[in-house]
Amino acid sequence: MAEVFVYVDSAGKLAAEMLTMARPLGEVSAVIVSEPGDSAEAVAQAAEYGASKVYLAEVAGVGDYFMVPKADVVTELFKEHAPSAVLLPSTSEGKAVAAYLAVSTGNGLLTDVSALDAEGQATQEIFAGASVSTSKVTKGVPIVTVKANSLAAEPSSSTPEQVAVEASISESAKKVAVVEKVEEPKGDRPDLTEAGVVVSGGRGVGSAEQFKLIEDVADALGGAVGASRAATDAGYYPHKFQVGQTGTTVSPQLYVAAGISGAIQHRAGMQTSRTIVAVNKDADAPIFSLADYGVVGDLFKVLPQLLENVEAR
Ligand code: FAD
Repeated sequence: MAEVFVYVDSAGKLAAEMLTMARPLGEVSAVIVSEPGDSAEAVAQAAEYGASKVYLAEVAGVGDYFMVPKADVVTELFKEHAPSAVLLPSTSEGKAVAAYLAVSTGNGLLTDVSALDAEGQATQEIFAGASVSTSKVTKGVPIVTVKANSLAAEPSSSTPEQVAVEASISESAKKVAVVEKVEEPKGDRPDLTEAGVVVSGGRGVGSAEQFKLIEDVADALGGAVGASRAATDAGYYPHKFQVGQTGTTVSPQLYVAAGISGAIQHRAGMQTSRTIVAVNKDADAPIFSLADYGVVGDLFKVLPQLLENVEAR
């Protein structure tokens, strides 16, 4: 059976999705490059999601440089084992490693892929999700970056063979060093991309202060807070919480859109949510054509009632 590489830059929902996507394509080998002692979670996840093998390179100082030392490891493993496909995360690091790998091995690259079949045919959503494009790499094997929330991750426990990979940081890989690392304080709310519930506010929320209501509803439901671009541009909520074409793509079990009209660019980031609830005072708002449940009303009346009911449980 063909060997398929999955590059796991960190354990989490996207890694689980990539491993799930790779399983029907062949024997899955997770490729993990980390600082010594930092790989336990990623290795455990590879086993939980059915990897047959884990190539583990623990390289002291790898985090002090841009992705090149990691990409060098993946490239060497690629040359040695000739996998039939390589899946990487559609994160900034994953895309950079993918581009480096594609150029250094002469293979074709497809980014933001939501599905890949055994024939190497990849699906990408384009034009803010309005169209679906099907493409195939014609030069070499497919190197693809996988978009978060493209499929439901399914565990399939395995006992992967662990292969220790000897690697060091080359002089050329040291050309771009990390100058400063900024650790975002981790709040109590779940990560936006991984949350099972997302409560988003739009321009209709009206101000940064009034976003507290959105936060309260999110907290009551154990969810994350999202925002439309109109809300982030207006300074109601930080840009990193923007959902949509130029923000984050989410696919929670429950997505609540309050005071959001439902522009195509917003839908691109949330339309695959399992259940969509919209609260909007305009009965003709386009969000209602997408919503499973719609409440026509003032969010400042509807959400406090919702909050009261949830808190009473
Ligand atoms: P509006 O469209 O102004 O809608 C506000 C809604 O709130 C209205 O429907 C109104 O009826 C309702 N409302 C007002 N008051 C209340 C109230 N008290 N109670 C209930 N309802 C109320 N947008 C994104 O969200 N994400 C993106 O990633 C994104 N990327 C973009 C990329 C490009 C290239 C472009 C051109 C645009 C992008 N946009 C994006 C912007 C997008 O086109 C819309 O402008 C934006 O989504 C609108 O945000 P909104 O729904 O909050 O605001």
